[in-house]
Amino acid sequence: MTSVKDALDGVKAVAIGMSTTFREMWQKPVTIQYPEEKRPVSTRFKGRHVLKRYDNGLEKCIGCSLCSAACPADAIFVESAENSDDERYSPGERYARVYEINMLRCIFCGYCEDACPTEAIVLGDNYELSFMDRRSSIYPKEMLLEPVPQDGNTTPQKVEPGIYTRSVPEMKDPLD
Ligand code: SF4
Ligand code: SF4
Repeated sequence: MTSVKDALDGVKAVAIGMSTTFREMWQKPVTIQYPEEKRPVSTRFKGRHVLKRYDNGLEKCIGCSLCSAACPADAIFVESAENSDDERYSPGERYARVYEINMLRCIFCGYCEDACPTEAIVLGDNYELSFMDRRSSIYPKEMLLEPVPQDGNTTPQKVEPGIYTRSVPEMKDPLD
């Protein structure tokens, strides 16, 4: 049989619980209305890869495959081809004719970014990766290459001979 003390303990517990609920009613909601609203990511976040271009539109990637060699998950496939001044994709001798990343294999470690001598491959802040089958998890160069900058031209470009002879241009601060 329930004693008066047990009944009072029950009322007290309910009152404490309700006071917590009442206090929280006036707090700012913490729910993020994703996907309309997105939480900013940390500056060190490593998301979907982007292949960068120079301001004139030439591709930074020179097809050297160092990113592929550095990748612990064997997720990157690069096939290079020769540039010419009539059909130039990137500075220097070669460019990436094929560049693919298998996003199912990738562990987003950033080693590819660290290994790249031209800062061509960069892990951005996009975390919205989805695919319905294994084939679509392989992102080709066309998906990875960033859009042409406003004052640039698309690749391939016809350029003056002897200008883009160096594959690795003068680097800015390598910690950029
Ligand atoms: S982030 Fe790491 S696992 Fe992913 S492609 Fe680059 S090196 Fe490979
Ligand atoms: S992304 Fe960088 S490391 Fe990879 S092939 Fe291109 S230039 Fe070489």
